[in-house]
Amino acid sequence: MDHVVVVGAGLGGVRVVEQLRANGHEGRITLVGAEEHPPYDRPPLSKQVLSGVWDAERVVLKDKPALDGLNVAYRFGSAAVALNDTTVELEDGSTVTGDAIVIATGVAARTIPGQPEGVWTLRTLDDATALRDALGDSQSLLVVGGGFIGAEVAHAARQRGLDVTVLEAMPTTCQHALGPELGALTNRLFTEAGVDLRCGTRMTRFVDAHTVELADGSTLSADIVLVGIGATPDVSWLGLETNGIHCDRTGRVDGASSTWALGDVAAWWDDVRGARCRTEHWTTTVDQAAIVARDILGAELPPPSVPYVWSDQFGLKIQLVGRPDLADNLLPLTGEGLDGGPVRGTVVAYFAGDTVVGVAAFGAPRFLPRLRGQVAAGAHRGTITSLMQELIGGVVR
Ligand code: FAD
Repeated sequence: MDHVVVVGAGLGGVRVVEQLRANGHEGRITLVGAEEHPPYDRPPLSKQVLSGVWDAERVVLKDKPALDGLNVAYRFGSAAVALNDTTVELEDGSTVTGDAIVIATGVAARTIPGQPEGVWTLRTLDDATALRDALGDSQSLLVVGGGFIGAEVAHAARQRGLDVTVLEAMPTTCQHALGPELGALTNRLFTEAGVDLRCGTRMTRFVDAHTVELADGSTLSADIVLVGIGATPDVSWLGLETNGIHCDRTGRVDGASSTWALGDVAAWWDDVRGARCRTEHWTTTVDQAAIVARDILGAELPPPSVPYVWSDQFGLKIQLVGRPDLADNLLPLTGEGLDGGPVRGTVVAYFAGDTVVGVAAFGAPRFLPRLRGQVAAGAHRGTITSLMQELIGGVVR
């Protein structure tokens, strides 16, 4: 492979470029990005950027001199609009042909049918800086969707003194990621921070950009309305209608010998689930980049890793390892959150039968590294309780 063309200049694209060079690729690399910005990191957008702690410059992953230093050609500000074999066609009418193509085009914020102009979503750096400024000029925020992004935006707004209402259709916030029992813990984080949290509440339509109507016919208004209901991959430019680009376990796109995909846009084969799986996790993207780069170069692949995601909300870090969606029972390991005590310090293991499949920690980062190893090993309940007893110097109930 001489020329590798990477489409999508976000986290996944940049990490592939770095990994190709780190693993000895001396051929050409071209990095294509839809946005004018040099590649930047997204997690701080809803955290440090929104709260005003960081300037926009701090989120840059690789500026142009750094890309020049890696001998990477870049084309920013023109989206890929078609892929024919190994030729990428760009919005500006130009084409780039590679020996290998890597697609890391991420996802777009999901919107609600009929969503008017002026209702906010948060996905890009431009979204984040504009929202940060708008929060400074506003008294109230209404968030539709109580997932991680909704929680982080609600937190930033509360820190800045806004009245915040969050609508969540499910019985608890963050339920998709954490499940209902631990979603109840995140509910408490919202309400303890003074958010007017309305779970099990659906909006039926937008009256305008500042007002939504609820199922009971009542309306809610705010200076800023933000929709945080997840994201969808745009694969239409590839002629696909699937939820993500289907790939094998090293990211090779099904039916294409010289094309790989990774990150939020890609649905890789997952041996544990026995199915294709698309995640929107920073760490998974980084891990996949290392695999893709080595697969392109025919180098030895890194060992499989355990999924990991985090969210910073209401003053604490929530960390989640493994595949909690496979669990059929939970075991509290330490902390009193599930007994109505402080959420901070609560650590819970997810089990499928007797095998650990995940761990969630709320403001308790010191336990994660060793528990993560046990999740990777698929440890049994007895091993987890013994390890935890050693870590806390006490008894797991
Ligand atoms: P991205 O980083 O989104 O990069 C995709 C790039 O492709 C974009 O720059 C886009 O402009 C470009 N592109 C799109 N279409 C085209 C096209 N047709 N042609 C060329 N370029 C194109 N994960 C966590 O684990 N923890 C967190 O706390 C966390 N917080 C987050 C907060 C926010 C606000 C957001 C938006 C995401 C967060 N994530 C978090 C998710 C994490 O950032 C993503 O998993 C990660 O960025 C995925 O990398 P990616 O390369 O697949 O996509």
